[in-house]
Amino acid sequence: MSDIVLIGGGVIGLSIAYELATHGASVRVLDQSQLGQESSWAGAGMITPANPNRAPSPEFRLRGESFVRWPDWAARLTDETGIDTGFARCGGIEIAAETSAHATKLQSEGVRAERLSSHELRQLEPHFNPEVCEAVHLPDYCQVRNPRLLKALLAACAARGVKLSPGMPVIGFEQQAGRVTAVRTPTEIISAGQFVVCSGAWSQTVLAQAGCQISVEPVHGQIVLLNMLPLPTRRIIEVGSRYIVPRADGHLLVGSTEEWVGFNKRNTAEAVAELIRFGCELIPSLKSARLERCWSGLRPGSPNGLPYLGRTSHTDNLFVAAGHFRAGLMLSPITAVLLRQLLLGEKLACDMDDFAPGQVV
Ligand SMILES: Cc1cc2nc3c(=O)[nH]c(=O)nc-3n(C[C@H](O)[C@H](O)[C@H](O)COP(=O)(O)OP(=O)(O)OC[C@H]3O[C@@H](n4cnc5c(N)ncnc54)[C@H](O)[C@@H]3O)c2cc1C
Repeated sequence: MSDIVLIGGGVIGLSIAYELATHGASVRVLDQSQLGQESSWAGAGMITPANPNRAPSPEFRLRGESFVRWPDWAARLTDETGIDTGFARCGGIEIAAETSAHATKLQSEGVRAERLSSHELRQLEPHFNPEVCEAVHLPDYCQVRNPRLLKALLAACAARGVKLSPGMPVIGFEQQAGRVTAVRTPTEIISAGQFVVCSGAWSQTVLAQAGCQISVEPVHGQIVLLNMLPLPTRRIIEVGSRYIVPRADGHLLVGSTEEWVGFNKRNTAEAVAELIRFGCELIPSLKSARLERCWSGLRPGSPNGLPYLGRTSHTDNLFVAAGHFRAGLMLSPITAVLLRQLLLGEKLACDMDDFAPGQVV
């Protein structure tokens, strides 16, 4: 019997499993399908800069605590597995309406941000559409390559003795006197001391089986993959919810949509055309890029975009780490650390009250 069972093997479940295993816990990860193949695989891997020391709110503190952990987290995974996660400080450009106010706000949060004039932008990004006349430069913007990160997490978990069980959907909970004693799958009843629901967009359904209510729904995001060498930009470019993420090998991810269409992962002609149009308008030379493929994923959307992190209110030993919406990759190191501290009864790196999961139903 494992000490801890995690329900869901995306970036959140695998990061928590790895962190727990490095601190001596025996851990099993159950996934209804393949491990690390859902939203975590589909994401763009943007790691937005944030500073925990100047954070204006618990949300920013959480982001900051995660951001500062990323370099060590990625290095540890590479050291332990030999797999390069593609973590890199590539820098970023944000194109926003009020660039001056935006840069000032970021600076007040302790994030390095510099407003660029039209001339400065042209010098930094000569391939941009000349109609883009101002932007904010964020030199600390980072990225990671999702499939490689997941491969490294899986290898690190396996090497640390985590029992990985794909094809094991959790379909119910056994409970006694305010404790979960086991989870049911179609083939096994699995007992453990503690349980964590980290089932991404499916977390609401999974938790409902234990009589606990949170609000997490799938938010469909589509991505188009282009290829062009030499790269027309080496920085992440963000315009509202749209972005271009260049990879060193010539790939450029153009994303992404936000669609409330249930558990539907179809790429649509309209969205793909719109993303390509967005990319080519911003960087006209992309018109000759090779179109490689498109894909999509289901983000675990929560009402305020913030994750639920903590113990459920009605059981001693059922925990939640879900609803990371657009920032699950970004927040994975701190989520892993906080859940490890909570489950092993250690002092918390930061206050989690604002992320407490919901009510009994
Ligand atoms: C297009 C797109 C772009 C994105 N870009 C970024 C980005 O740049 N930066 C960033 O930080 N985030 C980004 N995200 C968001 C990020 O991908 C998610 O927040 C993150 O992957 C959530 O991880 P997760 O482990 O909670 O969910 P998932 O990766 O979806 O994993 C959940 C797992 O639970 C399993 N599961 C479900 N139900 C059950 C059950 N009953 N029993 C057992 N297992 C179950 C599923 O099979 C799945 O493997 C993006 C997402 C998308 C779709």
